[in-house]
Amino acid sequence: MDKLIMTAGPTQIREDVRMAMSREIVSPDFEPSFFEYYKETADKIGELMKTNNDILIMAGEGILGLEAACASLIEEGDRVLCIENGIFGRDFGDFAKLYGADVEYFKSSYRRGVDISALKEFLLKDSDFKLATVVGCETPSGVANQLDKIGPILNSYGILVISDIVSSIGGDEVKVDEWKIDIGIGASQKCISAAPGLTILSVSDRAWNAIKNRKTAVKSYYCNIGLWENWYEKKWFPYTQSISDIYGLRKAVDNIIEEGDYIKRHEDIALRIRRAITESGLSLYTKSDYSNCVTVIEIPEGLSYSEIYEKMLENGVMISGAFDILENKVFRIGNMGENAREDKVYRALEALDRTMRELGVELKREIHKAFNNK
Ligand SMILES: *Cc1c(COP(=O)(O)O)cnc(C)c1O
Repeated sequence: MDKLIMTAGPTQIREDVRMAMSREIVSPDFEPSFFEYYKETADKIGELMKTNNDILIMAGEGILGLEAACASLIEEGDRVLCIENGIFGRDFGDFAKLYGADVEYFKSSYRRGVDISALKEFLLKDSDFKLATVVGCETPSGVANQLDKIGPILNSYGILVISDIVSSIGGDEVKVDEWKIDIGIGASQKCISAAPGLTILSVSDRAWNAIKNRKTAVKSYYCNIGLWENWYEKKWFPYTQSISDIYGLRKAVDNIIEEGDYIKRHEDIALRIRRAITESGLSLYTKSDYSNCVTVIEIPEGLSYSEIYEKMLENGVMISGAFDILENKVFRIGNMGENAREDKVYRALEALDRTMRELGVELKREIHKAFNNK
């Protein structure tokens, strides 16, 4: 039996996406049709992100997008608000510091969404920030922040909103324009279910203006979003585009748009997994504001992550652990993108049920059966 990959990214990729990557290539620097193809692909991604802002597809994994946003907007001494309620949120502050920001942290529980009323109170006392960083879905802890509230609050103070929505786009609801996100950052390998290697950035007019009005030059070439201004009119890219990766991404995005109600699929499956986990007697790490793209489960007392991981593999399924402060505390099922299919999730939960029993955990209910009981 083939091993089923249910990690929290990279996710499984459909065969038509893999086939698209093997298409014959044209010159991405000179072929006029490639500029049209890139533009169409960007527009379709804008549809997924619900935005009319410019979309850039950059060659590099999602982290490139986080760093590019910081490099392009931040000048020495700029005040940045880092909204931290998870590992990615916290580390966003480090990228800001790398480019000279004076970073202030607003901390909130790692097990729930950002505390909105506390954020409002914080901003009443101090709101003199050029930009704020905030994560949509904290993939290591399974929290989905209320960007619909956070974005407009920050925007009302004139603070630019930079949001890591890497593991939200193509799974959970994303509304970049309505939520006032100035730079929204995505990646190919999470809910979009394309190969790892591409970053997606939406850039608002306010963000473009902030980049253009810098007093000092951006201290990077590859991370300089400014170089992409008017790429379409000029028919020019700052560097040769990863055309095969973009072919794959385009197919994956087409698949999502064709499906239509993918958000409902993610919601439905995620809810059923959480219910099955809880009914079995295992505990979710996340306490509220659940992401529908990843399920984060506490490691039962007396067990280690490596025991669970190895036993799951023996039972045919690969899952994720977590790193940093969550290392050896939780394990994760990535129910995102092409992983979030009923048959695959059933197989993963059946393997989890067997794994737990083999490791001596007493379960109140069969996990896969609880999942199936709609
Ligand atoms: C996956 C992910 C990224 C990209 O990070 P990698 O660890 O390099 O895959 C960034 N932000 C979030 C929230 C992610 O889930």
